[in-house]
Amino acid sequence: MARCTAHPDREAVAKCRRCGRPFCEADLEEAGEFKYCFECLKDISHEARAFWKGKFTLHLVACAIISALVGLAFFFSRLAQYVGLADAIKGGSLDAIKAFLTPAMLAVLGPTSFMVAIYYVLAVGLIESKRWAFGLALLLNIAVLAWRVLTFSAWGGEDLRVVAAMVVGPILIILIAASERRSLSA
Ligand SMILES: [Zn+2]
Ligand SMILES: [Zn+2]
Repeated sequence: MARCTAHPDREAVAKCRRCGRPFCEADLEEAGEFKYCFECLKDISHEARAFWKGKFTLHLVACAIISALVGLAFFFSRLAQYVGLADAIKGGSLDAIKAFLTPAMLAVLGPTSFMVAIYYVLAVGLIESKRWAFGLALLLNIAVLAWRVLTFSAWGGEDLRVVAAMVVGPILIILIAASERRSLSA
């Protein structure tokens, strides 16, 4: 048997399973049925961590896509009003825009626009794996779910797909965000 790679004065007892270099007993560690040198063990654990991080990020991207879709659902729930606003703006006259933005219309478009913006911010935070996105995801979606449940009786007049997106979406976001919270960074 050859000499130990780390200790030239010692006889090697085995080769590392990964790099194939000979080592003495003190430089090898058994993992499963094979022996590895410390350098390779470190590499293996780094690779495993990178693999899991990649996997978690994939979940968070899925979560971000759902967030973006829920944001879109909010937008489409008020599509007619947004089209009206776009028409008023296209008309180019400030008076027309002012006439369109009555207090009642602002009460509808204000909160909706706010929700669309917040869901967009949430989607960006989740893609970047930010820890604040986890807190925001929980708070925002629990609030949306609670609001949907409380206004249950009024659902009849709404587009069913929008209602479904605003109920199923938040539940999915909460579940994924909760399962991935350990992989988030500050
Ligand atoms: Zn090795
Ligand atoms: Zn050695």
